[in-house]
Amino acid sequence: MKFPIYLDNHATTQVDPRVVETMLPYFSEKFGNASSRQHNYGWQAEESVETSRSFVAKYLNAEPSEIIFTSGATESNNLAIKGIVESCKQKGNHVISCVTEHHSVLDVCKHFEKSGCEVSYVRVDKFGKIDLNELENALRSNSILVSIMIANNEIGTFQPIEEIGKLCAERGIIFHTDATQAIGKIPIDVQKLNIHLLSLSAHKIYGPKGIGALYVRKKNPQIKVSAQQHGGGHEKGLRSGTLNVPAIVGLGKAIEILSNEMNVETQYIASLRETLQQRFFTSIENIWFNGDLSERIPNNLNVGFDGVDAQALMLGMKEIAVSSGSACSTSQAMPSHVLKAIGLSNEQAHSCIRFGIGRFNTEEEIEYTAKRVKEVVEQLRLISSKYKIKKVKEELGTA
Ligand SMILES: *Cc1c(COP(=O)(O)O)cnc(C)c1O
Repeated sequence: MKFPIYLDNHATTQVDPRVVETMLPYFSEKFGNASSRQHNYGWQAEESVETSRSFVAKYLNAEPSEIIFTSGATESNNLAIKGIVESCKQKGNHVISCVTEHHSVLDVCKHFEKSGCEVSYVRVDKFGKIDLNELENALRSNSILVSIMIANNEIGTFQPIEEIGKLCAERGIIFHTDATQAIGKIPIDVQKLNIHLLSLSAHKIYGPKGIGALYVRKKNPQIKVSAQQHGGGHEKGLRSGTLNVPAIVGLGKAIEILSNEMNVETQYIASLRETLQQRFFTSIENIWFNGDLSERIPNNLNVGFDGVDAQALMLGMKEIAVSSGSACSTSQAMPSHVLKAIGLSNEQAHSCIRFGIGRFNTEEEIEYTAKRVKEVVEQLRLISSKYKIKKVKEELGTA
């Protein structure tokens, strides 16, 4: 076994060796600029970019011309929301999102709230799911955009995307979804789901960092997004800047692999997750699982260990790379907004660990992790007076 065991696949993933191999020639012999129209270097680069674009489009049941390459999901989310707010000024200034979205959606919304936009944040239940009635009630005549993710990056819960898409279509409101954690876990059909804009990122699906895409629907209806970066008019004027050809080739390869292997891979990963969950459940007392246990991505296991500080737990098992909450919150002192939104107290939120299983994990690693977590949790509880007092109170029936 190789240490530390990597179980933080929601934060990022190892680049698949097949992806690396596919990318390598584009740093050396195939180094052309995809916009160079006068020679073979340029044509070769352009052709490879277009091949990647068609792999991304095919996965989503979209047209290649509807795929815009960006630097990742953060940029895609920014381009989608800012681009719509700007292009739909005539129609309205009301945006609807959800309290458990990624910061790259929530912070854009907060930015617009300061400059005259109105944003409604739909709440979630204790499993992390939105209430469709609450969403419907939030829709107004001046609503222009609904931005709700497919699957959550901390607790894995799936939102009812099909129903959200239907509702938005009926009301003529644009629907954007952050699909970063859902890509490669479930098939996504933007036609069937009535999705107008969709963000994704390569480094969450065994591709390189710094590359992603935004799907922008071209018909039924055509979605007009205002560019947020101006320059040479690349990517249909929506995202200027010389294309990162090696990274785009890597994203294409990562999606091609997923398209072929997703069914088998998700079953494998889900079986590892079930094993880990079962081991924790049967061997450690006073724990709980966050998220919707039946409707969540197969690689997510978010566990609360009563009376245990997650930071201390992680320090006690440094040979296992996991995380508490999201890697994208810079301040460790703040409890996760997602865990707070599903009703946990600050103390409970600070007792949770996210295990993110991936393509390269083995059963052996899962068994080791189960054993190690149990050991460290028990050690920490032994020295925790708060936990002991709580246990005694429970035994006396006065908790
Ligand atoms: C990782 C992540 C992002 C940010 O993606 P980058 O490509 O790193 O900018 C956005 N949304 C979700 C749900 C994520 O998990």
